[in-house]
This record gives sequence, structure tokens and C-alpha cells, in this order.
Amino acid sequence: MRAYGERRRVLVTGGAGFLGSHLIDRLIARGDEVICADNLFTGSKRNIAHLAEHPNFEFIRHDVSMPLTVEVDEIYNLACPASPVHYQHDPVQTTRTSVLGAINMLDLARRLNAKIFQASTSEVYGDPHVHPQIESYWGNVNPIGIRSCYDEGKRCAETLFFDYFRQYNVKIKVARIFNTYGPRMHPNDGRVVSNFIVQALRGEPITIYGDGSQTRSFCYVDDLVDGFIRLMDSNDDLTGPLNLGNPGEFTIRQLAERVVAQTGSTSTIEYRPLPSDDPTQRRPDISAAHRDLGWSPSIALEAGLERTIAYFRAQLAAA
Ligand code: NAD
Ligand code: UDP
Repeated sequence: MRAYGERRRVLVTGGAGFLGSHLIDRLIARGDEVICADNLFTGSKRNIAHLAEHPNFEFIRHDVSMPLTVEVDEIYNLACPASPVHYQHDPVQTTRTSVLGAINMLDLARRLNAKIFQASTSEVYGDPHVHPQIESYWGNVNPIGIRSCYDEGKRCAETLFFDYFRQYNVKIKVARIFNTYGPRMHPNDGRVVSNFIVQALRGEPITIYGDGSQTRSFCYVDDLVDGFIRLMDSNDDLTGPLNLGNPGEFTIRQLAERVVAQTGSTSTIEYRPLPSDDPTQRRPDISAAHRDLGWSPSIALEAGLERTIAYFRAQLAAA
């Protein structure tokens, strides 16, 4: 572990959430000092409770749509609800979080001359006409639909990152994250992997929206966090945007069948209406991340589901 004064000081916004808490574990393990700023909208103190007494960890309850003054060397900007159910709950606040959050964190990075990482998303590609999705594709996004608060908020945040880079020379790192799953997703998160596992373990019907032919590519959280850190640690001239995700592509029906098989559940499948603007297909082209970071995911869906199922089994047993 590095001595005081040699330690990197890192701010993680949204650090009490699913991805943020795993990222903080990795940063603390390598000796960084971490400040977690989170308004606990979808995150939970339980995700970071094991760090509460750690001398290199500090939690601040803070909404990123307001300015924040701290002294750090690096900023990971993850604050934003990621599940459609939650980001559509208060869509105006979702846009405020993405846009004002980006401005506030970029202003902080500019003042401190700190590197700043943005958790962008495959949603910038919308319902894509190019498959698999490559970074040079500009996307097919509805600007006025129910997903727009998230999609357009994240697109505007990317615009801000690249304008702060060009106008003020801020050192930026933009990752476009594809669907990621794993332990510490909230049981009521509403995203497909956690929904299906919780339903299967409770013996409740598995809810497939639409006919289940839409596809997604699922990345296990440890692989993704490894990509975050490699991107942040890369040379300053590597700005991204870089796709980070697992290129294994599955229909939602295939996912449901796998979860039922791997949990040994007796759950039946129930079909529900498809929400509007639900993308029909999604798979990352990760050749740029492989070339620039030497990164590619190593945990296949079956192995990642095993670990995630074990986590939810323990959570439900303790509840
Ligand atoms: P999450 O909902 O578990 O975590 C988001 C965190 O941000 C929560 O702790 C929440 O309380 C916090 N937050 C929300 N609004 C805030 C605000 N205004 N101020 C401060 N904190 C706020 O979701 P996650 O899956 O961990 O996602 C983390 C980031 O990664 C998000 O920016 C999300 O858009 C992005 N992302 C995630 C995925 C994925 O599949 N998990 C895919 C693409 C992008
Ligand atoms: N989905 C589903 N049943 C659920 C939750 C989600 O069929 O209980 C579908 C959803 O319509 C979408 C896919 O699974 O097509 C992935 O949804 P999720 O909310 O996880 O993320 P998205 O990629 O849509 O943001």
C-alpha cells in the first residue's frame, strides 16, 4: 500500500450504486483514497458499508446536479440511475443529473487539472441500425420518447466532455457501457438480469417484455470495472469514446431459459407488453478497447450468472 502523500485521491460519483461500489472496492484495494459522492436515489449505503471504517474511504451524501468542492486527482462520474424503471420515475431529474452533473464534475476537473471518466452508455446508439455497434456510429435515438431523458442526457454529457476537452484541455475518458450485471444490483432494480433471477428464485413467473426476440449483450461487473481502470490509467491522449461490454449476444428469451435452468426454478414465462423505444438489438464492437487497452471480457454469461444467482440466493435468504 502506498504511503500518505503518494496516494491517488479519487472521487467516485454514484459510488453507492451497483457499478460504483465495485469500482471503489478495486481502488481501495490498490491503495487509493476514495471519496464517494452519492444522493442514494438508487444506490444504498449497504453497498459500501464494509468500507465505512476504512481510513482511505469517505462517503458524502451529495446530488451531482449541485456543484461539489473536493480536492482529488481523478474523478469517475457514474452518478445517474441506470435502470429504465428508475430513470423514467423522475425524467426531468434524470436529465438534470446527466447534464448538470457533467458540467459540475467537468468544472471541478478543470479547476483541479484532474482526469475525469464518464460512464456513458450503449443507449447513445438508441435502436441501432448498425450492428454490432462501433464507436463511429452516431446512433438512432428518439429525442422525445420515454427513454430520451436518459439517452439524450448521456449524449449531451458526451458533448460536454468533448467540448471541455477541446475548449479547456480537460483530460477526459469516455466509456460507452453495455448491459452489465452482477452482485449488488438491487433486487427491485427492474433491469432484466436481476428481475429474472429474483423471479426464478421466488418461483414467480418470469416477465418477458414483447416476444423476447430483442437481443442484449451481458457483461459481468468484474470485467467491466477492469476496463474502467485500464481506460483511466491509459495515456492522456486516449479520450474514447470506447465501447466496454461483452460481445456475447443473447435474445431475452434465451436469457430467461438460462436463468430458469441455472436456478433449477419451476417458474413459468409470462409475456408482457414491450415498452416503447425498446432497442431491438445490441452488441458492442470492442475492437477499439482491445487494441487501445488490451482489454476484453473473460467471464462468460453462464459463469457470471452462477455468481449473481448465488448472491441473490443469499440476499433473499437473509431478507
Ligand atoms: P445504479 O443505479 O446502481 O447506480 C447509480 C448511482 O448513482 C446510485 O448510487 C444513485 O444513488 C446515484 N445517483 C443517481 N442520481 C444521482 C445524483 N443526482 N447525484 C448523486 N448520485 C446520484 O446504476 P449502475 O448500474 O451502477 O450505473 C452506474 C453508471 O453506469 C450510470 O451512470 C449508468 O448510466 C452507467 N451505465 C450502467 C450500465 C449497466 O448496465 N449497469 C450500462 C450503461 C451505463
Ligand atoms: N426486459 C424484460 N423483462 C424484464 C425486464 C426487462 O423482458 O423484467 C427486457 C427489456 O424490455 C429489454 C431488455 O430486457 O428489452 C433489457 O432491459 P433492461 O431494463 O435490463 O435494460 P435496457 O438494455 O433496456 O436498458
